[in-house]
Amino acid sequence: MEVRTRFAPSPTGFMHLGGVRTALYAYLFAKQNNGKFILRIEDTDQERYVDGAVEVIYDTLRACGLNWDEGPDIGGPVGPYVQSERKATYLPYAQQLVRSGHAYYCFCSKEEIEARREAVEAAGGTWKYDKHCLHLTPEQVEEKLAAGIPWTIRMNAPTEGETSYHDTVFGDMTFQNAEAMDDMVLIKQDGMPTYNFANVIDDHLMGITHVMRGMEYLSSTPRYNYLYTALGWDIPEYIHLPTVMRDATHKLSKRDGDAYYSDYIDKGYLTEALINYLALVGWNPGDEREFFTLPELVEAFDVHRLNKSPGIFDVNKLTWFNAEYIRRMDPARYLELATPWFDQALAGKNIDYRRLAELMQERTEIFNQVPGMVRFLAELPDYDVELYTHKKMKTNPEVAKTALTLCKPVLEAIAPEDWNEQVLHDRLMEAIAASGMKNGAVLWPLRIAISGQASTPGGAMEIAYLLGKEETLRRLDAGMEKLEAQA
Ligand code: GLU
Repeated sequence: MEVRTRFAPSPTGFMHLGGVRTALYAYLFAKQNNGKFILRIEDTDQERYVDGAVEVIYDTLRACGLNWDEGPDIGGPVGPYVQSERKATYLPYAQQLVRSGHAYYCFCSKEEIEARREAVEAAGGTWKYDKHCLHLTPEQVEEKLAAGIPWTIRMNAPTEGETSYHDTVFGDMTFQNAEAMDDMVLIKQDGMPTYNFANVIDDHLMGITHVMRGMEYLSSTPRYNYLYTALGWDIPEYIHLPTVMRDATHKLSKRDGDAYYSDYIDKGYLTEALINYLALVGWNPGDEREFFTLPELVEAFDVHRLNKSPGIFDVNKLTWFNAEYIRRMDPARYLELATPWFDQALAGKNIDYRRLAELMQERTEIFNQVPGMVRFLAELPDYDVELYTHKKMKTNPEVAKTALTLCKPVLEAIAPEDWNEQVLHDRLMEAIAASGMKNGAVLWPLRIAISGQASTPGGAMEIAYLLGKEETLRRLDAGMEKLEAQA
């Protein structure tokens, strides 16, 4: 039997990280079984439809390398793969269920249902559709249909007994039918199926063998099993996945900007780091390995090692992964990825990005930190004179004055065409040696004067090189003035 999994997002405009992880697991499981990974767009809730949302789904999955074997754009043997395009598929199955007594036409208006719901709740009860229309005779139903009264088709849910099924992650599940089931709508007034109906019909018609989806569907699964059975179909294997959480009590949220794939990419996280980390939120390889490419995940993934407690998405851990991926990447790629971030701070400045990239690669954890880290090259920050004080370097504003006075003529004497790190290094070290001062006591103040900050990518020579002669000397003068003013 060929393994067939599917990812079935609703096009809401964004890809939630939990959704990306579901897609990832469904992809891994299909691939490691030489099966098929299918993309199905669940757009039957037309009110929630967002323009361009399908492209977001495509782009995200592609960026993550989760290429589907069958789907809306590439087709396949059991298409179409967009539920709204399958609209005509669902009604005959609903009608079959009506004939077998597992479903019935309902003509209650929203207002009628609302009034009965209010009455039940006012009496302290919990509302469930009350099977009001179940008792219509076939003739009455025909009459109403002929009269054009808007209708829905509802499932005729059992009111007693229990339903059990096995879930790969959560084990044996048992639900009381009276609680877990209700006469849910299968076909809506607009002729569209509900998710609750369409998922069953499509998973069956598309030959889905393993249904992987969020654990929020655990408790509605008895209803789906009722439908599978009523239609005489096999029930698929269920692999429900625990929710991806920010911490034990908080979900990832749109408002906190931590819920969507794009939130992370926009901040400058790498897709491969995100995928690697996401795989580990809810699953572990059973050994110490932490770094996985997608093909390695296909090898290592094991549904039996999925965790049933909520997956905590620790952004610090993600950042750690991201920094590692950046550190290990090819320098040319780093340069390419960093360039737009450099531009944010340095556009129009004549800075050697290649050299800057070499200095920055080790220090970059997330790309959105890059502009802030290099902005001092565009503009000298307004710094406190106390930065010149450094115990270990044995320097303070007084020493700094001497140091800068020592450096100035040395730097002035370097011809613009010789302005490179080697020459800067040789001339400065020579002058420092001759002065009898400690290296740190000179180089610390020099770096402060030309960068205006305690922590910088690269040291004094690298920064002087990046700034160029003119700007370096301008900053040096400003530093000496600052120190004078302080005295
Ligand atoms: N369209 C559903 C959702 O986005 C999919 C659930 C499922 O995978 O069955 O939540």
